[in-house]
Amino acid sequence: MTSRRRFLQSSLLAAGAAALPALGAEKNTAVSTARPAAASGARVVSTWDFGVGANQAAWPVLADGGSALDAVEAGARWAEADLCNNTVGRCGNPDRDGVLTLDASIMDGDGRCGAVAALEDIAHPVTVARRVMERTPHVLLVGAGAQQFAIEQGFPKQPLLTDKARAAWNEWRKTSKYQPQINAERLDQAKPGDKTNHDTLGILAIDRSGKLAGACTTSGMAWKLHGRVGDSPIVGAGLYVDNEVGAATASGVGEEMLRNAASFLVVELMRQGRGPDEACREAIDRLVRKRPQASKTLQVCFLAINKHGEVGAHALHRGFVYAVCDANKRDALLDSPSVYTTQQT
Ligand code: ASP
Repeated sequence: MTSRRRFLQSSLLAAGAAALPALGAEKNTAVSTARPAAASGARVVSTWDFGVGANQAAWPVLADGGSALDAVEAGARWAEADLCNNTVGRCGNPDRDGVLTLDASIMDGDGRCGAVAALEDIAHPVTVARRVMERTPHVLLVGAGAQQFAIEQGFPKQPLLTDKARAAWNEWRKTSKYQPQINAERLDQAKPGDKTNHDTLGILAIDRSGKLAGACTTSGMAWKLHGRVGDSPIVGAGLYVDNEVGAATASGVGEEMLRNAASFLVVELMRQGRGPDEACREAIDRLVRKRPQASKTLQVCFLAINKHGEVGAHALHRGFVYAVCDANKRDALLDSPSVYTTQQT
């Protein structure tokens, strides 16, 4: 993480929380209920502090009356191109073999979806995912096949691994230890010696016509096994959207979301009547009940929006932040409540 990201976090946490009383996310409390979206009805929410930039890229689409689908793609593309982000897109950290592989998914509220996993040398996996959705009869393309499809669609093949990522990988190889650490992705909160190894942009939007869409894009867990696919490109795990109910996305150790069809679970809990905050909390609680020991040592975060534009989030551990943007506020960054408020070891 750069000083830019740290600056965004510290300045916007304060500014966002103060300027968005209606969104009501209190630091590390169980409740983060948001009121319905403002008059225009449009709102976009994204994971982590870089979600502020993603929202800003998505907002003009919504403000112009564009679709939620176009908005989330624009936001995800911004994150994928962000030269400071070593957990999403072209500047991501590689796997344990030094290969950068990208995962992404996109979904609209009518159940249309597309995804790519383990994609190499293509800069915008979210747009390839959208092409899978719109131009093939399939949902998910992986590895060499996903790359072949992208090239056929006109995406340039280009080496993406940055010198910085290569240097980080060389450093990691000195120990070759794969041990995701809670919020190590947030270097401002990390202990000395921690290395960034996970983060994902999950972005959800509701447009003026009340339609929902979401996208999720990541380079996955740094130093993962070559071929490992996380939750982000798996519809139902890292992302799920249903116009009848709402949308959810996830970040954190993807294996936990895969085990629990987690984003689908959050949406289904909303379908049963929970608000977005309650649904995220209940999904986290279930995870804790199932794997009480593991849940102390890894991070899982959910972000959800319902069809009324209400927003909620919950994480296992303290430190998850999410960005909210609507007609009233462009750059709010809010603390998610969490189960554990102190670091568990
Ligand atoms: N969920 C992502 C994965 O498992 C990583 C993250 O969000 O931190 O690939």
